[in-house]
Amino acid sequence: MTDTPFLQATAISKTYPGERVAGVKRTDLAIQPQKITAIIGESGSGKSTLLRLLYGLLSPDEGSIHFKGERIWGPEEKLIPGHDAMKMVTQDTDGLNVYAKVWDNIAVLMPNTDVGAKEERATQVLKQLNILHLADKQAFFLSGGEKQRVAIARALITRPEVLLLDEPFNQVDTSFREGLQQDIRQVVHDTGLTVIMVSHDPAEVLSMADELIVLKEGQIIEMGHPKKLYQNPQNLYTAKLLTNCNVLAADEAKHCGINTRAAHVVIYPEWAAPTGSWTRKNWTVKQVLFKGSYEDLLVAKDGITLRLLNDEPGKYNVGDKVHIKINRFMEF
Ligand code: ADP
Ligand code: MG
Repeated sequence: MTDTPFLQATAISKTYPGERVAGVKRTDLAIQPQKITAIIGESGSGKSTLLRLLYGLLSPDEGSIHFKGERIWGPEEKLIPGHDAMKMVTQDTDGLNVYAKVWDNIAVLMPNTDVGAKEERATQVLKQLNILHLADKQAFFLSGGEKQRVAIARALITRPEVLLLDEPFNQVDTSFREGLQQDIRQVVHDTGLTVIMVSHDPAEVLSMADELIVLKEGQIIEMGHPKKLYQNPQNLYTAKLLTNCNVLAADEAKHCGINTRAAHVVIYPEWAAPTGSWTRKNWTVKQVLFKGSYEDLLVAKDGITLRLLNDEPGKYNVGDKVHIKINRFMEF
């Protein structure tokens, strides 16, 4: 048996007329099956364009995309755009019939040829998305997060091989997001579904993705396991996307005791810590941002402000003088 790649893009470009930097440029990409691949990038970096190309909603100007060895055709070549083995969910849940019950919204997508199978499958999908208790509720009365669960259940009921998610959690309250993310991970684990998601939320991609792709101005600048990209980003752009890090110019870094020939020094909030016991306390606590189990401290010296993570909430107050110990930094 030859090893046919699962989903592969070869040198694809898609540019929009009239824009200088727009779309996707000469991109190669191989998506691993039965994993969650997340695409992260700043707004306008081409994330949605890339996703739509993979699905076949857009045709590449150049290059080609293959799904299990078979060419993906764009809307010009195919009557109903979008590959049959894939489903896409975006943040708009317009596809829902708000006047119908949750159950009917989902079951309507199954053929009537085998009523028993239809009922069994609909129940299974409702359970997977933890919305069985909402089956008889009219979709109109659902919260944003519940609607998004129904939208995903609708996408999954016909057992697609690939689920494409384009920032689907934007309308979902942060407190409900995590549960939904976990449920999707569970579906991937239990059923072997392949997920490709687009997001600009670092917390989301770091906790969900098996593979992370960083897109900048229509090109992939790095990819790998989220942990690797977080701990050792090759680009300042990646570090800034993944964490609310401190970025210092070389002359600013000098004030922190760092001499560098690089243009920038990056210090993650968790890489520096205040030490109250030191004699040279030349930083001043400017703000204490309480986050529950930890605090973000904004400390300043010589016009430079650093954000530090403090895991002992209550220890420091605004105006306190502290010494800062920098344990790690990166140069770009
Ligand atoms: P992202 O999803 O990362 O925010 P998009 O893929 O939506 O980025 O867009 C990438 C770039 O292409 C942006 O500069 C955007 O303005 C432009 N663009 C997207 N769709 C169109 C279109 N239909 N016509 C013209 N320009 C577009
Ligand atoms: Mg987008």
